[in-house]
Amino acid sequence: MYDLLLKNARLLDPGSGHDATGDIAFAEGRVAALAQSIAESEAAEIRDVAGLIVTPGLIDLHTHVYWGGTSIGIEPDDYALKSGTTTLVDAGTAGPANYRGFLEHVIEPAVPRILAFLNIAFPGIFAFSEEVMVGECGDFRLLSPAPCLRVARAYPDSIVGIKVRVGMNASDGRGVAPLDLALEVADELGLPVMCHLDYPPPSRMEVVSRLRKGDILTHCFRPFPNAPARLRDRTVHEEILAARERGVIFDIGHGMGSFGFATAEVMLESGFQPECISSDVHVLSVDGPAHNQLVTLSKFLAMGMSLADVIAASTVGPADAIRRPDLGTLGAGTTGDATVLRMEPGEFQFIDAEGQSRQGDSQLVAEGMVIAGRWHDP
Ligand SMILES: [Zn+2]
Repeated sequence: MYDLLLKNARLLDPGSGHDATGDIAFAEGRVAALAQSIAESEAAEIRDVAGLIVTPGLIDLHTHVYWGGTSIGIEPDDYALKSGTTTLVDAGTAGPANYRGFLEHVIEPAVPRILAFLNIAFPGIFAFSEEVMVGECGDFRLLSPAPCLRVARAYPDSIVGIKVRVGMNASDGRGVAPLDLALEVADELGLPVMCHLDYPPPSRMEVVSRLRKGDILTHCFRPFPNAPARLRDRTVHEEILAARERGVIFDIGHGMGSFGFATAEVMLESGFQPECISSDVHVLSVDGPAHNQLVTLSKFLAMGMSLADVIAASTVGPADAIRRPDLGTLGAGTTGDATVLRMEPGEFQFIDAEGQSRQGDSQLVAEGMVIAGRWHDP
């Protein structure tokens, strides 16, 4: 007997290459069966989702959801339900000093699954708001590798990597040194680093040349300066191409200042699609320009990326990045997460972090989701 059966959907699972109309059943928290037709008599709860798209549970690889404990964090339940994201990956909101509070007060009671990159800085992102903005990597007294290593070892079920923010805003001219500390800790843990980059210093060259196979460059399609592409002759910078060759993972991390259509168009024209598309949703980006994961994905549809590639960048792509192959696909026996989406046709205007706009003819809307085999309305 299945716990839940979704019928007559377009089942789109880019990770396995599956794209066909059919039914999907869940039992005991996992995907139990995927077939053209599964009998209704075999399920306790049945939902007809004809005309809708069922994908693996969407993963938002870059969020800030330490709600109430930090000024940057937004409330995760409401956000996840509206944006159809079954897994939120928090990008270093908490550091070693306050991770336990994040785990017990936010992660454990939350509706969506929350995983985290632990900030190399002791207090995490502690002063990020309209009124007070102090980068956590601007003071070396806050950058002690030992507590970071200890806390990441203590919580291996929820900590998937180390986050570091470098750039004029985040590390106050300290260049690449905080990244080197994060790499040192991550190397000892055998986990990836997710690296933020804003205004130089440090330069794109210094940062990208340090990233190893499996490390993640977030804000990867940021506008000038430290952009990955040259607008003058519409080419991708050599060190970016070399990093991809080496296996560095590219993540969008839209946020309030980190995604530009002009840069993204050069990248996509050059055949350089991101492995991961994420929102970088936080208190200063959730009401625009990022809004949420589905708006961010819809911007890539507007730029001509295929639906299958866009969904891949929010399912199998981020699942690979956090090394969680049980997430990100609809394979039988994997974690029972799925997202039900509608492609809403219309005329939509999308705005990037620089205020530039582009027109799109469709937008993805969440119609519900399944987390560990249980249905949730949007
Ligand atoms: Zn962020």
